[in-house]
Amino acid sequence: MTRAGLPGIVVTHLPDLRYLSGFTGSSGALAVTRRAARLFTDGRYTAQAAEEVKAAQVEIVTSSPAVAAVQWLGAQSGVEFAGFDPARTTVAELARWKAALPSGLRRAFLSALAAPLVETLRQVKDEDELALIREAALVGCKLFEHILGFIRPGIREIEVAAELEHRARLLGAEGMSFETIVAAGARSALPHGRATGAPLPRRGFLTLDFGVILKGYCSDMTRTVHLGRPSEAERDTYLAVLEAQEAAIAAVTPGISCGEVDEAARSVLRKANLAEAFTHSTGHGVGLEIHEPPRIGAGQATRLLPGMVVTIEPGIYLAGRYGIRIEDMVTVSRTGAEVLTPSPKALIEL
Ligand code: ZN
Ligand code: ZN
Repeated sequence: MTRAGLPGIVVTHLPDLRYLSGFTGSSGALAVTRRAARLFTDGRYTAQAAEEVKAAQVEIVTSSPAVAAVQWLGAQSGVEFAGFDPARTTVAELARWKAALPSGLRRAFLSALAAPLVETLRQVKDEDELALIREAALVGCKLFEHILGFIRPGIREIEVAAELEHRARLLGAEGMSFETIVAAGARSALPHGRATGAPLPRRGFLTLDFGVILKGYCSDMTRTVHLGRPSEAERDTYLAVLEAQEAAIAAVTPGISCGEVDEAARSVLRKANLAEAFTHSTGHGVGLEIHEPPRIGAGQATRLLPGMVVTIEPGIYLAGRYGIRIEDMVTVSRTGAEVLTPSPKALIEL
């Protein structure tokens, strides 16, 4: 806050709130000045907030926690204005906050942050966070190993998803970090093909993209396997995607720009005449949220720093035929990348 020249800030995005205070409830707002921090929540969370929140005073309110946080900030001496994250605030909320302030503060007290403050801090994970993310990623690997023994032609995609999700809960997951993707045959050409009632074919690619939430932290991985024997062309295409994925992992090093990592994957696919089939960016940050900064995409200038956790997931999609994506989570170490999802990547035939 000092560096950003901010005397006060109101934080309402729940992952930011959790990151700063430890509070995991579904309703709350945090007000921070350079001298004090106060977390506002409602009566459902009295006991939970007392247990989880150590670094802020807790105040239970009967109206909107965010409105209470803004009013509290407005009453603090020395706080001439307070920042808020415009990307996490609706127009209606802002109007409500302003209306709740004394008339002299309505016009200029609330100031939209030029760049997100907490989300930017969250990009670099500390050792405790990395330990939780490593654990979540390894649960993902166990799930993949388990599901390989379950997959067979004729069962429906949703059965595969259900088995994965059931097993995830038994392994301690609080939930899935996003809707499980199980896409077989021509459906694998849909980058986000949700599991459907379609039966798995005897022959064809099968893409599995899934992740768990463990102690608040998300995992994310994709493997594409082949049912039956692949043709030579299918095998070559798979190898090109794998080569692109490994080139991008090899490019990960402190100080490199996200755009350069993206280009490492893209240039391999360009040489294989698959550039046009690679229709998304190479990866994204993962942490308390499944998709968070930085984005590993073309032209992205953000530079990787030790402690960041990102996915590397190039994919190719040939409409009506098949798709292939391979995704690992990696953390940026002092010298390169540490892969957090060490499941096998050589093409598996089932
Ligand atoms: Zn994924
Ligand atoms: Zn991903």
